[in-house]
Amino acid sequence: MHELPITQKIVKIADDHCRENGGSRVLKVNMVIGDYSGYVGEAIQTYFGIIAEGTLCEGASLEFVKIEPQLRCSSCGKLFKKQLLSFECPYCGGQGQQSEVGKEFYIDTIEIE
Ligand SMILES: [Zn+2]
Repeated sequence: MHELPITQKIVKIADDHCRENGGSRVLKVNMVIGDYSGYVGEAIQTYFGIIAEGTLCEGASLEFVKIEPQLRCSSCGKLFKKQLLSFECPYCGGQGQQSEVGKEFYIDTIEIE
């Protein structure tokens, strides 16, 4: 349910961006969402359609680029995808630790006309 306030924010940002740049409407909002961001893209998509009504975002599409979480090896420093039940680094066998990759949540670009 916490997608509702964040979607209101996204619509507001895109709406403001459009106004400030002299656009007449927002065509598309491109977002980056990590699997560990805590937000569900589908829920944002649903809210977006409702909240955008009557704003410059009405009719705009929302696109997501999803980022898979990656671990960082504490020995060699390489990033790798976590295997089920294993934190082992595929390069050196060291221990992987949670990295920032996969926690992304931001608006990449806003297309207006
Ligand atoms: Zn390693």
